[in-house]
Amino acid sequence: MTDIDTLIANTIREDVRAGHSYKVPDASGYIKLDAMENPYELPDPLRTELATRLADAVLNRYPVASYATLKQKIRDNLGVPAGYDVILGNGSDEIISILCTACARQSPDDKSGRAVVLAPTPAFVMFQRSAQFAGMDYVGVPLQADFSLDLPAMLAAIAEHKPALVFLAYPNNPTGNLFASEDVIAIIEALGDTGIAVVDEAYQPFARTSFMERLPQYPNMVVMRTLSKLGLAGIRLGYLAAAPALLDQFDKVRPPYNINVLTQVAAEFALDHLDVLDAQAASLNDARSELAAAMAALPGVTVYPSSANFITVRVPDAERTCATLFAEKVLIKNLSKMHGLLANCIRVTVSTPEENSIFLNALKASL
Ligand code: PMP
Repeated sequence: MTDIDTLIANTIREDVRAGHSYKVPDASGYIKLDAMENPYELPDPLRTELATRLADAVLNRYPVASYATLKQKIRDNLGVPAGYDVILGNGSDEIISILCTACARQSPDDKSGRAVVLAPTPAFVMFQRSAQFAGMDYVGVPLQADFSLDLPAMLAAIAEHKPALVFLAYPNNPTGNLFASEDVIAIIEALGDTGIAVVDEAYQPFARTSFMERLPQYPNMVVMRTLSKLGLAGIRLGYLAAAPALLDQFDKVRPPYNINVLTQVAAEFALDHLDVLDAQAASLNDARSELAAAMAALPGVTVYPSSANFITVRVPDAERTCATLFAEKVLIKNLSKMHGLLANCIRVTVSTPEENSIFLNALKASL
């Protein structure tokens, strides 16, 4: 007879057994301001047109493995410099995992025999999780109290740990700010030919600034983006732009056919209508300014500058604020336990004027 617990103990990695799944709260019946989604859907005429295109998708065949058309549209519409290409991921989550898998060398040159992933912290949690699952060491370098990069500490950590990968989210999640570009460049230059700098531009549609055009200057830099925040979180499509020689290496560990045909069709369609999504992002940026100003006027609330579609604020009692909002059926993220720098911080996704105002009223009630 097989005993399931013994089986698990005999087969599953110890760190996996000790860990937990990525938690996503059930949001049904709630106003969902916890995951940086775009609250707007495609306009009806576009939805109808998309439905026709999806109906024509060839579901009985594997996707065309090269994804040539979709990649071409990304290169043409999203600012990828000439001579550079992209690989695609099932969300940028998968690209983070591909990067870690490709770079998880085991070498006596590394202190623990394992390659290192380094990131300023607090950071997007998947950097650490993917590093761990790939068998890499993770080094987090705390940001300064104003959430800017601690450049001397970053450079010292790079010299000490010789990371194979450095993740820099630009703007950063969960803090929302853009790091100083000269700090990012100093890090890329310090890595030279010993490490790859991954500039994660998930929030680029809102930041409206990018390292993409600097790709030719820095061969050890790669730029990762996603369609998720732009309004297509449901289709799961991320992309990574880099020099073709580097992409060839990453492509070796990418699961074949990782982008399904429905995603492919929907993404190609969306890229033909990028103006619609861009206009939504622009109106969310306007809403962000209004929401930030309204929150800044509240007693005891500190609003941190954001270049993303979310705002991080410090409140007197984050636990109480989140509980009040939850009772009002509004989901936000309590960042308090994530990092020492985030005590009593909450993160709210910018949404429609109606949802922002429901959030704001509930926030006021919680103070
Ligand atoms: N990078 C950052 C900085 C993020 O905040 C997120 C999602 N919250 C991702 C990457 C992953 O995005 P996706 O997998 O939806 O492309």
